[in-house]
Amino acid sequence: DTLRTPAAIREAERWTAHNYHPLPVVISEAEGAWVTDVDGRRYLDCLAGYSALNFGHRHPTLIAAAHAQLDRLTLTSRAFVHDQFADFCRELAQLCGKDLVLPMNTGAEAVETAIKVSRKWGYRVKGVPAGQATIVVADGNFHGRTTTIVSFSTDPDARDDFGPYTPGFRIVPYGDLAALAEAVDETTVAVLLEPIQGEQGVVVPPPGYLPGVRRLCTERNVLFVADEIQSGLGRTGETFACDHEGVKPDMYVLGKALGGGIIPVSAVAADADVLGVLRPGEHGSTFGGNPLACAVATEVVRLLATGEFQRRSAELGARLHGALRGLIGDGLVAVRGRGLWAGIDIDPALMTGRQACERLAERGVLAKDTHGSTIRLAPPLVVQADELDHAVVQLSAVLH
Ligand code: PLP
Repeated sequence: DTLRTPAAIREAERWTAHNYHPLPVVISEAEGAWVTDVDGRRYLDCLAGYSALNFGHRHPTLIAAAHAQLDRLTLTSRAFVHDQFADFCRELAQLCGKDLVLPMNTGAEAVETAIKVSRKWGYRVKGVPAGQATIVVADGNFHGRTTTIVSFSTDPDARDDFGPYTPGFRIVPYGDLAALAEAVDETTVAVLLEPIQGEQGVVVPPPGYLPGVRRLCTERNVLFVADEIQSGLGRTGETFACDHEGVKPDMYVLGKALGGGIIPVSAVAADADVLGVLRPGEHGSTFGGNPLACAVATEVVRLLATGEFQRRSAELGARLHGALRGLIGDGLVAVRGRGLWAGIDIDPALMTGRQACERLAERGVLAKDTHGSTIRLAPPLVVQADELDHAVVQLSAVLH
């Protein structure tokens, strides 16, 4: 056996906690939409780092920004101001149409930031009695892995055995406006939702739901917090998934692609009446908004400001969804999503999502199952039309 893959997997399993069950592929290089493994095999990346690689692997503009910044300044902490900070915050605020930005590192940290800001806004601006704030969230959500965030998860794998849980959250069925209206009361400071539920299997809410959430939040003086960590930054064919319904949330929560696939960068964006509630010493992060992160993320925002990636996602997404719909009744039972983002349900009589992903990998296409027989497809937005067609041909072959 001269392949390096089996030994590399054995070694990784020997030395790490088993909090993941990776596909048996050991990647050593990547460019654009393609990765290469330690044995020289090439794969089309249809996961794109759970949408952290929207611009592909090693996008030349982003790599150049990272290299240039590495040679100048990498870290100051927020104890000082640095020369990359203002440009990043201004340009991201403008992309979001908001007054202010607060940079963090990971998605979960940005969600925690949104929760803290919402609660403080509730006490200081809305006038909720001390310690009484509630936040309404949706069934099937995924917002990250911290103890507070898993407290309101409905996925037993994510939540069980990690209590005691943080109180103050109410869970309602996703897509059900009446249930949401029922759950909101005078203690409610925020409704926190994914405009499309990614980990749940790319679940798109019914038309009119997001505008209904917007109306309800405005009428009841509640913040609409949109977790666009996976759905935002071009993935769905618009800058934000909320844009499809003409909806502006009070707060955007962003991450993943914001770091260009190079460095973890997350942020929340909101107007001054909301983010302005934070005072020095109340929130922060050693690495949040560091110079290297800002240099890369500013170029990410500039790539998005061209509109090119949103256009590609919309056009190529239509092609992908058309091809996938052709497989319904022929190995697939359902296709959901928007833009270059699809959740597909494999006929459970054929195989599990995991088995389908293993067979796809053998055919040089990387994708990841979510729950049971569902697979998510989210190729980098730099993927070419013929590469997408190739992926669907391989999927069809796996299903037959
Ligand atoms: N929110 C959403 C919608 C996500 O999809 C994710 C990650 O999958 C997160 C939050 C958590 O982000 P991170 O893994 O960077 O903490």
